[in-house]
Formats: sequence, structure tokens, C-alpha cells
Amino acid sequence: MTVPSFQRGSVQVYLGDKSGKYPDGNQVVVTGADRCVAFDMPLVARSLTGVFDGVDTVILGHVHEDHLAGLGQCPSVPVWVHEGDVEAARSWDGMKRHFGYAPDVLAAWHERMVRDFFYQPRPDALAYADGQAWDLGGGVRVRAHHTPGHTTGHCVLVVEPEGVAFIGDIDLTGFGPYYGDATSSLAQFRRTLKAVRDIDAQVWVTSHHRAVITDRDAFEIALQAFADKLDQRADKLLGMLQHEPCSLDALVAQRLVYPVGYEAAFVNDVERRMIEQHLHELIEAGQVRCVDASSGLFART
Ligand SMILES: [Zn+2]
Repeated sequence: MTVPSFQRGSVQVYLGDKSGKYPDGNQVVVTGADRCVAFDMPLVARSLTGVFDGVDTVILGHVHEDHLAGLGQCPSVPVWVHEGDVEAARSWDGMKRHFGYAPDVLAAWHERMVRDFFYQPRPDALAYADGQAWDLGGGVRVRAHHTPGHTTGHCVLVVEPEGVAFIGDIDLTGFGPYYGDATSSLAQFRRTLKAVRDIDAQVWVTSHHRAVITDRDAFEIALQAFADKLDQRADKLLGMLQHEPCSLDALVAQRLVYPVGYEAAFVNDVERRMIEQHLHELIEAGQVRCVDASSGLFART
């Protein structure tokens, strides 16, 4: 099968199905004079014949099932993960803490991860820190910029000197930012969305759907629209509290993030985690109050 691709200097991007729309993703391979590196290993990697023969290092921008699905293509190659996410790559116990869903949800999710994403822990995963650089030879270098929020260890991987930034799940999709896991953070995502604008780059590659953007104005417009989703969700939540106080359970049932009718094992846990963070932010801003601790009801001020 032929996979559409994009090339800029040492960087090759192989587009997943529907430009990497979840559950697929976009595959990046960077070739220097001495070394060859793959960023993430999405499902599309399983369709790429011969592409990974020379790859001697895998660098994960973050840990989620859809970014590990092709790791079987490189079974004996060192895998680097930011120190914030590395335990999630090393074991299922680490992954469970990373997601933080209820035990029955995690059991169902594990089954689906194995079936649909070929999930296997990598106990040998190596940890990197913010600012770590990999010299690939011939002047080609990869540098990690820690951009937490989606996960605690999410990083943007920048290829120098081409100025190609793999921005991963700062994916600029219409869904908006995802911060529904135990280690995700709305507050950190807000800071990251400001910081990513200042990373020196000329090309931006997302894991999903948007794929490759080569124009700074287009990138900034897409980034702003993506960031605006945070305030739109806060406004929607205020609207849900417009007429009467609501419990967290009632807000979860009404759905802030996913469409009503969208069903997956993790949806209620993710809704809860994301709504809780918005409630916390709105309470801090004085726009929402907890009616009283015993009732567990929230109301607009
Ligand atoms: Zn992700």
C-alpha cells in the first residue's frame, strides 16, 4: 500500500489514514548522516515496508495508545520518552496511573488497546528531560521542548536546522485540546498553547488530521481556534449551570466535551476529569461556587 508523504530536508512525514485522524496518526522519520530516528509509532507504521530498517532510535512525544501502536515495527530499538510519561510506557501499572480511570473502565480499555492498538509495555523505555538533544550527524539535530497539558510528559520535538516541529497532540483539531487523564492538566495546557507559538519553527506537524502546516499565519490561526475551545467549554459549562445548581454527576451526564450519544468505556471518566478542572478554574475566577460541601452542588455566582 502507498502511504502519502511529505518531505522537508532530513524529515519525512508519512500520513496516516485520513491525514492521521484518530485512531491512526502521522509518522515522522528523521535521517541524519549517522543516525535515523522515528517520532512516535502510530498505526500507519504497520503499513510502511522498509521505512524502519535504518531507524536506530524511537522518540515518543508522549504516551497514549495511538502513539505506541506501531512499536512492534522496531522491537529492539531504544525508545525514549519524557520522564513525565516514561512510567506509562514501561508498564501497565504505570499506564493505569497515567489514565486514572475507574478499574472496570481500565480493564475494558486494556482489552481494546491490545486488540486495536497492539499494546505492549516497553519496560526498557529510556527517560529524557526538557531540552534534551539528539545529534543525528550532518548538522541534523532533534530537540525536545516540554509542553505538558495533554499528558504530563508531552513534548514538541523540533528538527534543526529544518525548523520542523512535531507538535503531536497539540493537534489543532476541531475537537479541541484533550486533558481528560489523571496526568493531564488544563492549566498546563493553557500555558503550553502560549509557549508553543514561540518555538522557532517553519513547519508544524500534528499527530492527527491537520498533519503538515507550512505557513506561520495558518499555524497561528489554527492554534488560536484550538485554544479558543477552552473558553468555549468554560462558557458552555456556565450555561449548564445557568438555571439551577448541578452536581458533578449531572454535569457529566449532560456532556461538556463529547457529543451526547458518543459511547466509549472511558467517556464518563474523561468528562468528569475535564469538567472538574473547568469547575476549579471557574471557582478560582469567582464565577462558580460550591453550594455546600455536603450537597456536592455547583452554582453560578
Ligand atoms: Zn495523546
